[in-house]
Amino acid sequence: MSDIKKSKVAVNLLGKVRIVLVNTSDCRNMGSAARAMKTMGLSNLVLVDPIEMPNGQAQALAAGATDVLANAKVVSSLSEAIADCGLVVGTSARSRTLPWPMLEPRACGEKIVSEASQYPVALVFGRESSGLTNDELQQCHFHVQIPANPDYSSLNLAMAVQTLSYEVRTSYLLSMDDAQYERSTGNGHFIGKKTSCAKSEDDELYPISAETERFYQHFENALKTTGFIGDKHPGLVMTKLRRLYNRARPDVKEIKMMRGILASIERASTKTQR
Ligand code: SAH
Repeated sequence: MSDIKKSKVAVNLLGKVRIVLVNTSDCRNMGSAARAMKTMGLSNLVLVDPIEMPNGQAQALAAGATDVLANAKVVSSLSEAIADCGLVVGTSARSRTLPWPMLEPRACGEKIVSEASQYPVALVFGRESSGLTNDELQQCHFHVQIPANPDYSSLNLAMAVQTLSYEVRTSYLLSMDDAQYERSTGNGHFIGKKTSCAKSEDDELYPISAETERFYQHFENALKTTGFIGDKHPGLVMTKLRRLYNRARPDVKEIKMMRGILASIERASTKTQR
């Protein structure tokens, strides 16, 4: 492939990285987040049910990144924002009661860059007042926490976007060959630049979020059919199963097999009920 073509591939890769802001209440943070994104080469902004729509104040803080703000997609739920994503990383300023697979910011950048060539990937940010809900965090494959001062760990929303977008850019630059790198930065030398590409270790194809949600729905229905989950007291079964399957991160073929198994259980259980 020519260098120019390769460079286009690399640019498209950052285009696959989606920054999702959930229920943002201060639109100035949207403007600053747009600016943070553009400085790092990201342009794909999704606003989930924003409390305030971007206005003049947001535009002022976006400065030269008003295009990112203008092109932002507005949706009503997190599941809608991430439906076509194969990797979803949620951000959190504090540890939650339900432990979830965690990534360091650097590893988060590497993972995002290595998977963005396969499908859209999302970095999800929470509300200024209360962050992401447990239900929203459970829709993410991994969580990332910027290891800030333990006595004061909550960054301003846009600054958290800046920090993690920088990690995405760093990994993206490290994944380039030297010619591409020079074109992207204007610098010939970068001490410590790795020459190897941050590719995933294996070639599994992971399901997009909507497919995974359909699997969980199927699982829940099947467990209701067999009586394992009671209609009145569902308990935490589905949360625990989500955590288990999320940890294992089944690929497309494995999800297909699981759905086949669930269908066979449903058939057998309907037969016995007859
Ligand atoms: N008061 C909230 C924090 C909100 S800060 C809470 O207790 O959860 C707004 C958002 O910025 C968070 O939802 C998260 O998306 C991001 N953020 C802030 N600090 C962060 C940190 N240290 N690590 C990762 N994300 C952070």
